[in-house]
Amino acid sequence: MNLIFLGPPGAGKGTQAQRVAAAHGLVQLSTGDMLRAAVAAGTEVGLKAKAVMEAGELVSDDIVVAIVADRIAGPDCAGGFVLDGFPRTVAQAEALDTVLDGNGMRIDHVVEMTVDDDALVERISGRFSCVACGAAYHDRFNRPKVEGVCDACGGGEFVRREDDNAETVATRLRAYHAQTAPLLPYYRERGALRPVDGMAEIDAVTRQIEAVLDGGGGD
Ligand code: ADP
Ligand code: ADP
Ligand code: ZN
Repeated sequence: MNLIFLGPPGAGKGTQAQRVAAAHGLVQLSTGDMLRAAVAAGTEVGLKAKAVMEAGELVSDDIVVAIVADRIAGPDCAGGFVLDGFPRTVAQAEALDTVLDGNGMRIDHVVEMTVDDDALVERISGRFSCVACGAAYHDRFNRPKVEGVCDACGGGEFVRREDDNAETVATRLRAYHAQTAPLLPYYRERGALRPVDGMAEIDAVTRQIEAVLDGGGGD
């Protein structure tokens, strides 16, 4: 089963992708995580992407398509994957279709998480994650069960993203509405779009997604 999780910054894509990937034995492919790793490692891609990410704009299609194409062809992805944060432009979606065709693969569901812009700002400003395993938390909505200890791995060190500040968030939301929202009709026309109410609580969103996966799509 191959999935795309689509939604604005802070919608819950990463949180739900972690859960669904673990529950179904899928590989989570987050282009944001891959790009942050490239920045941290100081690779050529990282050097190109750093300033663009800090500004909240989209990294060029060529760069992200190349990293995704490389990962999807890997043996670990043969058992299924969740794309989290990719595609983000129609050009990326078209390139993805070509890559999938070339590998004899297809997307089963494009899960769209809808969340109001005001709620997104609140989610992003309270977001932090575990350094060791990447598990996602929130100051108000999703605190570790034991203060200062990661539920998933027991780690005790957490980070906040540099681009999770009010100014950059505004740019990221604009980029979503202008460049990524056109993917909704793109996938709707192909019968793949499955909207879920991303305003619900985290567990309730997971249940909606599980219902989509159980239902086999419908269209
Ligand atoms: P995205 O990957 O779409 O940017 P995240 O999964 O990182 O979003 O979620 C953004 C923040 O909001 C995180 O701090 C996360 O814990 C929190 N969050 C995720 N889903 C929900 C939800 N349904 N309700 C409240 N907070 C949520
Ligand atoms: P969010 O969790 O807010 O949705 P991500 O972690 O997915 O953010 O992405 C962080 C940043 O990385 C984006 O603001 C953008 O600069 C870059 N990025 C991630 N995925 C893509 C993509 N598919 N195309 C272009 N840029 C991307
Ligand atoms: Zn952890």
